[in-house]
Amino acid sequence: MRIPMIAGNWKMNKTLDEALELVKDIKNEERDKDVEAVLCIPYVNLTEVKKLIEDTDIKLGAQNVHWEDSGAYTGEISPLMLKNIGVEYVIIGHSERRQYFNETDEIVNKKVKAVLNHGLKPILCVGETLAEREKGIEEDIVGEQIKNALEGISEEDASNIVIAYEPIWAIGTGKTASSKDANTMLGFIRNILGDIYNKDLKNNIRILYGGSVKPANIKELMAEDEIDGALVGGASLKKDDFLSLINY
Ligand code: PEP
Repeated sequence: MRIPMIAGNWKMNKTLDEALELVKDIKNEERDKDVEAVLCIPYVNLTEVKKLIEDTDIKLGAQNVHWEDSGAYTGEISPLMLKNIGVEYVIIGHSERRQYFNETDEIVNKKVKAVLNHGLKPILCVGETLAEREKGIEEDIVGEQIKNALEGISEEDASNIVIAYEPIWAIGTGKTASSKDANTMLGFIRNILGDIYNKDLKNNIRILYGGSVKPANIKELMAEDEIDGALVGGASLKKDDFLSLINY
């Protein structure tokens, strides 16, 4: 049984004051669904937000991590540090990090391994560009990203991973993949997982869709059998939108 997940990716938004205000509003609202709600927020807000959600079932996530535990890596944050302050999830390989910070599949793989070694759970992002989709090579691209990210990761560890398929052309653009197209790609990803690991893992791992998910399209997306939830950028920054998503 795969528990649906709605994960908000705040990106580089919200000062601490703004973060606390939004989280207070979210946590005070009634929830009527069995959904795992995750807030992936800027590093500087993690500790204070953690205190605020301690008595709730809302989970805390970071948006990036380094692969070493400590060392001369100015400006970086380690998995050990995230674990120590009660973070549970870490987004790894988001397309913005691949695009603006030159994160390669090799780096993504190191980060996934480091996070798993510390008992944290990666939300591993994959997705193709518009040009790649127009060429009809989206499955080749996504398949490679998945295989490279999971290189050398045991089946036991892999069961703690959440995968997010985010076509780059749908992120922050208002364009969503149709629920059918998203479902087809998620099914494709699930089959690759079945080839690498076994049937149990294939059936139990959660795969999210991300890319302009909003209250108006969440129901349709969640009605698809392969879609286990959503990774949400813009709509996770507004209380009413995020609440509608977690109560889809
Ligand atoms: C994201 O950043 O992961 C994302 C899907 O953004 P948006 O929902 O704004 O498209």
